[in-house]
Amino acid sequence: MAEERKRKPMIGLQSDTDWSEYRGVMVVVEQRAGVAKAVSWQLLGEARRLADKLESPLLALVIGHQVQGLAREAGYHGADRVYICDSPELASYRTRPYSRVCLYVIREYKPEIVLMGATYAGRDLAGAIATHLPTGLTADSTQLDVDDERLLLASRPAFSEKMLATILCKQFKPQMATARAGVFEALPRDEARSAEIVVVPPQIDPEDISTQVLGFVESLERVNLEDADVIVAGGRGLGGPGAFSLLKELADALGGEVGASRAAVDLGWIGHDHQVGQTGTTVRPKLYIAVGISGAVQHVVGMQNSTYIVAINKDSEAPIFRFANYGIKGDLFQIVPALAQAVRARRSGGLSPEGVLEPMSAAGRGE
Ligand SMILES: Cc1cc2nc3c(=O)[nH]c(=O)nc-3n(C[C@H](O)[C@H](O)[C@H](O)COP(=O)(O)OP(=O)(O)OC[C@H]3O[C@@H](n4cnc5c(N)ncnc54)[C@H](O)[C@@H]3O)c2cc1C
Repeated sequence: MAEERKRKPMIGLQSDTDWSEYRGVMVVVEQRAGVAKAVSWQLLGEARRLADKLESPLLALVIGHQVQGLAREAGYHGADRVYICDSPELASYRTRPYSRVCLYVIREYKPEIVLMGATYAGRDLAGAIATHLPTGLTADSTQLDVDDERLLLASRPAFSEKMLATILCKQFKPQMATARAGVFEALPRDEARSAEIVVVPPQIDPEDISTQVLGFVESLERVNLEDADVIVAGGRGLGGPGAFSLLKELADALGGEVGASRAAVDLGWIGHDHQVGQTGTTVRPKLYIAVGISGAVQHVVGMQNSTYIVAINKDSEAPIFRFANYGIKGDLFQIVPALAQAVRARRSGGLSPEGVLEPMSAAGRGE
């Protein structure tokens, strides 16, 4: 029996299959209630580079209900052609109807590469599609490229994050990968760009509707680091869980979220959802304030793409200052409440920002 199984080729594993019809790099745009996840635009930015290298079109797939606006947005973010499947049954994400649409589009239009965000829904959908096609899937990539043989080089941390593994799928098409949010940069939104829009009929079988979404209840503890414009993150320097309330005050004053280093998470001071870094979330906010965080490489890889980094640390030699645009040396228990107060005062028209922060010199940033 084992011998028989060995001799029998896997479905689709014929080396003589002609894949030349497969062309184009496709990004599946993830949305909820008509609002796209930032990772979708970030992936379109990176996929534009891959498509140009392959001299292929950049494709987007938008699935949902009343999502015509998103199809246009996909064009503004770089797509040459957008496939849109719009139906009331697709209003909320469910694995079977969404994967049915994706499978139809992939089989009909044959993209060479399919990418989606490594979000809860993206991981679920990508796994279902790859299993059905069948094809290979690299989950949670942090680097993407293509080689001279048009192979997708999807790299991701491996072996307890100690090395970066580059994974190829040589025998199947499309080549698939999910990618982390916050790693790639979206193209600037440009309304002068326009995409060809292709309407796809909904491929939904009544059998596919085995679950009903009755509504959404937002978690009160919900953390959305991936899409946050401002993150105030705390580390072991906080000395205990209580100090996170100081960070929350500052984050609330700035309209942001609270993040954390792994040390703070491992100590049980805050949930893993808040962890930023190699084994946490990769973030790209406009402002990242690192409080009592030393700046270990595993933390920095997760936040170094922030537009502005402010570090608050009592040790002037702390590595985090090398990555910071603004550094404040001192005790966080004095600085954070003062900052929160200053931000609140400024919001109510009382203080200029120059009164709060002094930019670091280039030497201070280690440049
Ligand atoms: C495989 C692997 C994966 C990892 N993944 C991650 C990850 O995803 N994210 C992550 O963060 N880490 C990760 N780490 C851990 C990382 O190596 C560091 O151990 C961790 O980031 C350190 O956290 P910290 O900066 O909070 O603590 P520490 O390094 O202990 O730094 C605390 C800082 O607080 C400052 N401080 C103390 N008291 C005060 C005060 N009163 N006021 C101001 N400053 C003060 C100190 O000067 C110090 O710089 C990983 C490690 C490994 C091996």
